[in-house]
Amino acid sequence: DAKRSGRHTWKRYSPDMHAVAMARLTVLSRLSGAHLDDELALVWQTQHAGDDGRVIGVEALLRWPSAPGDLDMPDRLVPLLEETGAIVQIGQWVLREACRQQRRIAQLLGPDCRIAVNISAQQLVNADLVAEVRRALEETGAPASSLELELTESAFMQEPERAIQTLHELRAMGVSIALDDFGTGYSNLMYLSRLPLDKVKIDRHFTSALLQEDVDASICRSIVFLARNLRLEVVAEGVETPWQRRWLMAEGCTAMQGWLFSRPVPLDELGAQVAPADPVAS
Ligand code: C2E
Ligand code: MG
Ligand code: MG
Ligand code: MG
Repeated sequence: DAKRSGRHTWKRYSPDMHAVAMARLTVLSRLSGAHLDDELALVWQTQHAGDDGRVIGVEALLRWPSAPGDLDMPDRLVPLLEETGAIVQIGQWVLREACRQQRRIAQLLGPDCRIAVNISAQQLVNADLVAEVRRALEETGAPASSLELELTESAFMQEPERAIQTLHELRAMGVSIALDDFGTGYSNLMYLSRLPLDKVKIDRHFTSALLQEDVDASICRSIVFLARNLRLEVVAEGVETPWQRRWLMAEGCTAMQGWLFSRPVPLDELGAQVAPADPVAS
């Protein structure tokens, strides 16, 4: 059986497994050193008010431009970083780098523009997130009120009480908290009412399915309804068409993010983000 044959022996060798193993080694050797600045980059995607399209925030998204294979995009990279534990250190880099770029963002998009940073569950469980956030803010001079942290429900699975305590401490500092990808995970409604949250982000799966499936439309509608009743801001992800924008506005979801408004871009291109040509006619 697999145990007796030893963990370093491939039972059924395939080129795929070789590629995966190589990718893991490359990640560990190139992304565990002190030169993250040379390897990693952030791009920014704007969040907009649905009515007039004005920018209300920006989300930092991780890129690894010189990555091997398809690891330049976080859908592939982040799971690997989580498997290897490297996400804790890299998440710290993301947080710091985002805070460092905040000053320029305030110049380009106004001082009220919030910067949103994705935080992995491991950063909440295996690191002192409060201390790290405080340090990033102090060292960069970014105001706490400009920072929003995006967490997914998985962050609350292991030690919910401790996670809730951490969020309370972060909010006491003035940092705001968004629940990312809502609707895709366990979506325990208990969490939604108990967690100290400011915002819920509807996962793009539901937004993109709006056109075809009634089921997804009612899930979308329910999330908006629930969030508004809990006095939470609600942002729809993955808004790609004017029709989706109008549908969301009509349902009371007034904030949105997606290709209709902008793709993620490097810092220097953020100043060019303007309202899309198709305003809501209502
Ligand atoms: P997310 O936080 O839900 O980010 C939104 C993702 O949707 C981004 O993908 C964005 O490029 C994509 N997107 C935005 N608008 C549209 C649209 O209209 N249509 C479609 N089809 N896609 C759209 P990206 O950059 O590939 O990131 C994927 C995920 O990787 C993120 O999902 C987030 O969970 C994770 N991630 C990204 N950066 C970081 C990071 O710094 N730390 C951690 N822990 N996770 C990160
Ligand atoms: Mg996010
Ligand atoms: Mg999301
Ligand atoms: Mg996502």
